[in-house]
Amino acid sequence: FDLRNEDLKDLHELGQGNGGSVKKVEHVPTGTIMAKKIVLIDAKPSVRKQILRELQIMHDCSSNYIISFYGAFISDPNICICMEFMDKGSLDGIYKKIGPIDIDVVGKVALAVLEGLTYLYDVHRIIHRDIKPSNILCNSQGQIKICDFGVSGELINSIADTFVGTSTYMSPERIQGAQYTVKSDVWSLGISLIELALGRFPFADDSSDDSDLSEFEGTLSPSRPAPLPKKTKEQKEQEKKKKRRKSKGVSLQGGGMTMSILELLQHIVNEPAPRLTPEGRFPHEAEDFIDSCLLKDPDQRKTPKDLLKYPWIDHARSSTIDLEAWASTF
Ligand code: ATP
Ligand code: MG
Repeated sequence: FDLRNEDLKDLHELGQGNGGSVKKVEHVPTGTIMAKKIVLIDAKPSVRKQILRELQIMHDCSSNYIISFYGAFISDPNICICMEFMDKGSLDGIYKKIGPIDIDVVGKVALAVLEGLTYLYDVHRIIHRDIKPSNILCNSQGQIKICDFGVSGELINSIADTFVGTSTYMSPERIQGAQYTVKSDVWSLGISLIELALGRFPFADDSSDDSDLSEFEGTLSPSRPAPLPKKTKEQKEQEKKKKRRKSKGVSLQGGGMTMSILELLQHIVNEPAPRLTPEGRFPHEAEDFIDSCLLKDPDQRKTPKDLLKYPWIDHARSSTIDLEAWASTF
């Protein structure tokens, strides 16, 4: 594909994140449906070109568990990344629609994410850095794939410069400033799997209906709007939406509990890790797997490759559950 913005027809918006928005588009010359991610970055043209070069690695990523990449280009001042469109959307949207996800399906999600992470790391030495339900996508064939991994160091830097994001899927060691490793992704996977199985973010109170929580989509971000050089209509729209979100308050509320971002980060560092509860409701092998993902000491925590050998994952691999049929229910 030689992608040019003029060849892409906007169909509709798929969602908004911290760093930009994603639209369903049609590549008119070929009729291909794609997801186009518009990344807002405040960077010099030379840096943007560097990012574009780094993103080209994604052309070499080929796995059933990784979103495929069509190409990226600069659409001044933004960077656009075109990728495979996943028609059932992300798992956060799915559980918010259908409720807690069946533990056997969650097992398949764990398997897919571990396969994807192992592929990225073993073949390309890439650490994902942003595992969470909104970055795990599903399609009507029942495939589960991960997206939004950290391929470009420059892109990671530019976004970090622009947004003071405080992701709540962050591992205790990352909160304390340690380097990212594949094991930080394993922590984020553990948190995400509990969220899918319970149908709510695990650090919220049990009695919470997650209507407040869903405002934050798992990301509590005291982001300051970036001083952008030229503001496009799209950017202005996004800033407005972000302000609206922000004005709802930067607190995580559920039932009787209200946690500020700082309290939440302190909680992750100081308190015991969340677990799949109540005990006995889920298969013991699932509990055991998630406990291993959520070991607070990264030296004790396993790598994605090790976790692929766990009994629960073996079970998921041989499970005959029909994900295509499951995906046809929503
Ligand atoms: P954050 O910006 O904090 O990472 P996010 O992952 O929700 O949050 P985006 O990556 O911008 O933000 O994605 C916005 C939404 O677009 C996602 O929640 C997802 O539902 C949808 N989406 C992203 N990529 C695709 C895709 N390839 N196919 C279908 N839907 C997608
Ligand atoms: Mg995303």
